[in-house]
Amino acid sequence: MNLDVSKVLIPEAEIKAMVSDMAAKINKDYEGEELLVVGVLTGSFVFLADLVRELKMPVTVDFIQVSSYSGTTSTGVLSVKKDLSSNIAGRNVLIVEDIIDTGYTLSCLKEMLLTRNPKTLKICSAFDKKERRTCEMNADYEGIVIPNEFIVGYGLDYDGCYRNLKDVCIAKLLG
Ligand code: 5GP
Ligand code: MG
Repeated sequence: MNLDVSKVLIPEAEIKAMVSDMAAKINKDYEGEELLVVGVLTGSFVFLADLVRELKMPVTVDFIQVSSYSGTTSTGVLSVKKDLSSNIAGRNVLIVEDIIDTGYTLSCLKEMLLTRNPKTLKICSAFDKKERRTCEMNADYEGIVIPNEFIVGYGLDYDGCYRNLKDVCIAKLLG
């Protein structure tokens, strides 16, 4: 593959520190509550696996797979490729995303899940390209803010590959 992924942007140790800081905040906020953790497939699976193992409240896990089309209107079109298996009504839901870029996917997803009447709905993301935001979307638990580079590793892919890298690396097309 004509791709260079040799430049490490965020080393494994920095990601681990972010995960435990974030888990500490979540543990504090949901003390005495139950939590349904919703992973957005596929990129979130590594982050979710690390995060849930740091959580102390009773946790259940579910996954959803979506894609969003920005189109020409401001109202989002969200295509659900795999829906949740659980009913979220009346439950504390935490959406776990790998990265927020334009913010479009999460704003559509949040809107859709709110129609299902969760007790609470919050968002956490491992990485955040804040400067790329085109819609109003901020995570309740923010991970590491990164520059406008295409990254792979720690669950994030290029064409399905590199999700297994322990560090987050910058992907550069060669030639
Ligand atoms: P948004 O709707 O916020 O623009 O897009 C978010 C989605 O785009 C992420 O869930 C992720 O799948 C993908 N994405 C955005 N930036 C990157 C990146 O730098 N690397 C990878 N591998 N995926 C990205
Ligand atoms: Mg994604």
